[in-house]
This record gives sequence, C-alpha cells and structure tokens, in this order.
Amino acid sequence: MNKQTYPFTLMPLPYAYEALEPYIDKETMHYHHDKHHQAYVDNLNKALANHPQYQKYTVPELLVMLPEIPDEIWTAVHNNGGGVYNHNLFWLAMAPQVPSRPTGKLATVIDEKFKTFSNFKVEFKKTALSQFGSGWAWLVSNNRDELAIITTANQNTPLELNLKPILPLDVWEHAYYLKYQNRRGDYIDNWFNIVDWRQAEKLYYT
Ligand code: MN
Repeated sequence: MNKQTYPFTLMPLPYAYEALEPYIDKETMHYHHDKHHQAYVDNLNKALANHPQYQKYTVPELLVMLPEIPDEIWTAVHNNGGGVYNHNLFWLAMAPQVPSRPTGKLATVIDEKFKTFSNFKVEFKKTALSQFGSGWAWLVSNNRDELAIITTANQNTPLELNLKPILPLDVWEHAYYLKYQNRRGDYIDNWFNIVDWRQAEKLYYT
C-alpha cells in the first residue's frame, strides 16, 4: 500500500463500502474514501508535479524526509502526504469480521502498559475525545517497542515523531458526522467493533 511512488493513485478500499455497517455507514465511506482521501492523493501529485527529484520516493519516505523538502511545497507534501498515509493505514485497520481483541505479544504488552484490555479502550477513547478539532488518535510504539496513546493534529503522522503507528483512528468530523453528528464518543465506541487487531499486530511486529 505504501510502496507506490509518483504519480500516486487512490488505494482501493480492502472491502465493500457497506462492509463496516452498522458502525460506519456506506455514505460516509463513499465521501471519506472517494472524495477526501482522493483529494489528498490529487494534491500530493500536484505538489510534486514540478519537482521531479522527489518523484522517486514513496509516501512514507517523503514524510520522513520532510526536513529537506523545499519550502514552496513543504506544507502541501506534509498535509497531503500525511493525508494519504494516514487514510491508507485507517482503511487497513478495520474489517467487517474481526477478532474482538488482540492476541499474542501485542495483547501482552497492552496488558503490561494499560493493565487490562478494557482499560486500554477507556484510555484510547479518552485521548481520542481530547483531540481538539481535526486530527487522529493513535496507538504507537517507540524504538524500544514501548506502547503509547497519542493524538496528532490535522494530517500529522507518528512518522514525523519517530513513532511507529500500530492503530489509527480518524477523528476528523468528516469521518463520523453524517451518521453520528457531534457524538464523537459513540463513533469511537462503535469503531472498536471493527478494529482489525490482526493488522495492528502485524504493524507492531514489523
Ligand atoms: Mn479522514
């Protein structure tokens, strides 16, 4: 998914638009993927169109090399590259038929860090609710494989903080407003029903 280079194309959803119902509705998925995510892809391509020296890099590579990206395209690459990367991760983090909780080493480290899986969910929700305005909530790990729950504003990514994303949650209003309006808490509670912990484990081990 993140191996592509310029010109970037929109990653297709790994399931049908209605697959995450009743937790995330088909209409939201169409707007979110076909309009919002597509716009990040298009705007990233536009930013790089006249900068061929950056066209050989993947999106994660561009995000890590942001300090050397020229000023005139820095904001566009940062915001739209982040938008492409975060949404690719977000679609893959969910699935219609999922295990209700992590297993293996990730389950163990979650228990070590947060005492219980239920307590992890309480902490994750609290953090996601605390993000003022647009942004993301994340379970991340650092270079010692230690877990943390963080938020990033707008389309900022954990990569810029030298952290590895394990589980992303989009808390922009465009992710939930059609179905949930201002009830971000209900959206978060329901989202836990479609978290694909197999993907989170894969990212943790990678
Ligand atoms: Mn989004």
